[in-house]
Amino acid sequence: MFCPSCGKQNKETAVFCEFCGKAMPQKTTPLPIVQPVTQANLNPKKAAAPKPRLSYNAKRGIITGVLLVGLVLVVLLIYYPSIFPWNW
Ligand SMILES: [Zn+2]
Repeated sequence: MFCPSCGKQNKETAVFCEFCGKAMPQKTTPLPIVQPVTQANLNPKKAAAPKPRLSYNAKRGIITGVLLVGLVLVVLLIYYPSIFPWNW
């Protein structure tokens, strides 16, 4: 890149001009801004995620259990109505 003060060429990674010592325009400035945002977004998710997932899994387990019991009862009612006292 070229120095905005003296116009001489410097390395792409140069922070200060090698010739006049002035600060070079930084192409990497957006990165330090992006990184803390992603880290801040990831950390609360990691901390908050396990609790809702556990309750969701527990609810799913109860729902699937109830559905299975209901299914078995329906199948029993259809194929073996005589085992129920209220059979018709
Ligand atoms: Zn310069």
